[in-house]
Amino acid sequence: MTTTGSTASDKPTDETALLPGTSGGAWRGNEYIASLKDEREVWCEGRRVDVTGDPGFRPMLSTLAGLYDAQHLPDRADEMLHRSDSSGRLVSLSYLAPADRDDLGRKWANSHRWAEASYGQLSRIPDFMSNVVVGLYDYRFELAQVDPEFGRNAENYYHYCRENDLTLTHGLGDPQIDRSSTPADRPELGLRVVRRSADGIVVRGAKQIATLAPYAHEVLIYLSPANYLREDPSYVCWFAAPLATPGLRVLCRTSYADGSGGLSARYDEQDAMLVFDDVFIPMDRVFLLDDSQAAVRGFGELNKWSLYTGQVRYYHRLRTMLGVASLLAQAIGVDKFRQVTDLLGELTSYVEIVRLGLAAIDAECWTTSSGLLAPGSTAALDAVAGRFSTRGSEIIRQIGASGLIMQPSEADLGTSELRAVLDTYMCGRETSVDDKSRIFRLAADLAVDRFGMRQELYETWNRGDPARVRSMLYARYPDLQRCEIQARDLAEGRNDTT
Ligand SMILES: Cc1cc2nc3c(=O)[nH]c(=O)nc-3n(C[C@H](O)[C@H](O)[C@H](O)COP(=O)(O)OP(=O)(O)OC[C@H]3O[C@@H](n4cnc5c(N)ncnc54)[C@H](O)[C@@H]3O)c2cc1C
Repeated sequence: MTTTGSTASDKPTDETALLPGTSGGAWRGNEYIASLKDEREVWCEGRRVDVTGDPGFRPMLSTLAGLYDAQHLPDRADEMLHRSDSSGRLVSLSYLAPADRDDLGRKWANSHRWAEASYGQLSRIPDFMSNVVVGLYDYRFELAQVDPEFGRNAENYYHYCRENDLTLTHGLGDPQIDRSSTPADRPELGLRVVRRSADGIVVRGAKQIATLAPYAHEVLIYLSPANYLREDPSYVCWFAAPLATPGLRVLCRTSYADGSGGLSARYDEQDAMLVFDDVFIPMDRVFLLDDSQAAVRGFGELNKWSLYTGQVRYYHRLRTMLGVASLLAQAIGVDKFRQVTDLLGELTSYVEIVRLGLAAIDAECWTTSSGLLAPGSTAALDAVAGRFSTRGSEIIRQIGASGLIMQPSEADLGTSELRAVLDTYMCGRETSVDDKSRIFRLAADLAVDRFGMRQELYETWNRGDPARVRSMLYARYPDLQRCEIQARDLAEGRNDTT
């Protein structure tokens, strides 16, 4: 096991607090589950739930626990863990603050492991937010310019998260009440500081959506997508809080765990609204107040690594879609028809575009002002991700057609009176009814049922409003002027040879 060569190692161990009852370092599954037994106030379908025991939450919790266990497997540990050189503990490479190419390569290998092990289905896999915290750490010097305490808090929080392998959620969006109104009319539109003292701040308001919230240890709040909130200092408050903080309520959407043990139960990471009912945040967990400009600049800075790992996860999701689409086609003997191979080729092209994009973005890595190595911009991939994903679902629906709904259930398969009929009429080409129905039901989970529709919503909206993402890409495209000059030359009949 190697030690990190990053610049994030200059802090003495004994200053980093550990979660009560734990010895720190990368989680194992059972320790992670035990760590969620706290006073958090999680609500789902009108009931306050214990996420460690509730049937609607338990399948996903087992999935996460399995992923945390997997990071210790002998054939993976070298790619997922390293020894913290401040404490000597085995910590996750998700929290590595990369100082050089070698670090960056190890970081991405770890992200691929996380995403591959969950088939790209967990959009807010813990690896995502760990990388936002790396971004916060990288931005600490700019925060220190606003207030030295903010810079120190960001640095300490990074160490705290890394040494405890914290699972984080974030909630940037604001409640969808009335987008045509402003906080001047309705202060509840934005999360705000209502009291402050030398000890800390009291915040009031809500955030929508925080994926993974019921399974997280802490929430990180750092920016609103709304310009009027970004520009108003009273709404600029960056902080972290444990999910079990008094006054913080987690309102979950309906659980997709239907008892079938299918994809939707195992990978239902949940989405929640977070309500802050006068929640006290101690000053050492506050990273920025009042300074709109530092907040707006910081948004891009915090997301440098997480957006890349988000694309890694997305790549594995597209690969899963391709695998499923291909097996569907084979199962019903349409895999050689030109119309179908055209669709499969189109889906393959999306997988390849993202793979090549990731390689190019990695190749464009650069050194940040704090001395870390960051990947290039993911903006172009972010701008098309929702469209590729929607098209991928369409392709699965086009190939699977009626079979996506007309399949026997596991109960049907186990019913002896039905067996002969199922074997005769519901099998596929050289495929048993059992194999065929399982792959078709998986396809329905991905592209027809509410789990799949939620994934599609996620791919479209998780990077913020896609119209804004594309508009920014155009506005910031560095070669735009040259494109325009060439277009003008062509229009005016000039060419390179004259
Ligand atoms: C499944 C899922 C998971 C998510 N997980 C997270 C998460 O973990 N953390 C997190 O922070 N966020 C998360 N998001 C939230 C995501 O960031 C928001 O969905 C996104 O910012 C868009 O905001 P909104 O959904 O409130 O849509 P709205 O802002 O309400 O937009 C609704 C419609 O109005 C249009 N519109 C709104 N305002 C304007 C305007 N000023 N000008 C022009 N058109 C406008 C939009 O284009 C859109 O068509 C998640 C979203 C989804 C769907």
